[in-house]
Amino acid sequence: MLYIGNHVSSSKGYLAMGREITGINGNVFAFFTRNPRGGKAKDIDEEDVRRFLAYKTEHRIGTLVAHAPYTLNPCAAKPELREFAYNIMADDLRRMEYTPGNLYNFHPGSHVQQGVEVAIGLIGELLNNVLNKDQTTTVLLETMSGKGTEVGRSFEELQAIIQQVDLDSHIGVCLDTCHVYSAGYDIVNDLEGVLKEFDRVIGIDRLRAVHLNDSMTPLGSHKDRHEKIGNGSIGMEAFVRIINHPQLKHLPFILETPNDNAGYAHEIAVLRDAYHE
Ligand code: FE
Ligand code: FE
Ligand code: ZN
Repeated sequence: MLYIGNHVSSSKGYLAMGREITGINGNVFAFFTRNPRGGKAKDIDEEDVRRFLAYKTEHRIGTLVAHAPYTLNPCAAKPELREFAYNIMADDLRRMEYTPGNLYNFHPGSHVQQGVEVAIGLIGELLNNVLNKDQTTTVLLETMSGKGTEVGRSFEELQAIIQQVDLDSHIGVCLDTCHVYSAGYDIVNDLEGVLKEFDRVIGIDRLRAVHLNDSMTPLGSHKDRHEKIGNGSIGMEAFVRIINHPQLKHLPFILETPNDNAGYAHEIAVLRDAYHE
């Protein structure tokens, strides 16, 4: 079974998200836990969650891949910005426990002028503060393209963060195909080699979700410009290999392509057609 879907709006609650994704033949979805810029989250409606969880079982919806606001900078130089990131993540993780056993993805952040090593230390510290041993949510570090001073541009940087985390059984990685290709990992001509490298540096068991995006820019460009599946520098053939790879084919695939719902429905249909059970 191919688990595929896209980002849906969380503004109408959980059941509405479930209905939206099944409406375009998706069976997983991503959502921002709050306004992507980091505003206040809506209160959890427990009745909505209860109805959603029943709907999720009934419609065989797979793992949820929540996304932290992208403006958080967990490795900011200013302590008040790091505290803001901590407060949002702590609140998000508390809320995630209403839907147990799912995934919460975040961008490691930008080191600006501090250098990558200092930043890696700050991200590790934040994770040690925010994780708790009883949580059922796995927190995912996203692979980044390395634009500007982004941290997480290499498997080594991600592993350096993970190594510092005490409760590392609650940590995983989300591989963004646009980002890794932009970062210089050739998933078009050497998918096997890239996954071997991932396994050698991080361990393939950490890989828990894939953001499925084509790229407007070439290999190693360190840009972050998502393109529709098949229309960019990665191309359809590579995506067919990615969704069918034995080490990937069971994972939740989240489209973050520039599309409206009709566009997502089309990408989902095309990829389902290309998937081998
Ligand atoms: Fe992201
Ligand atoms: Fe992404
Ligand atoms: Zn991106």
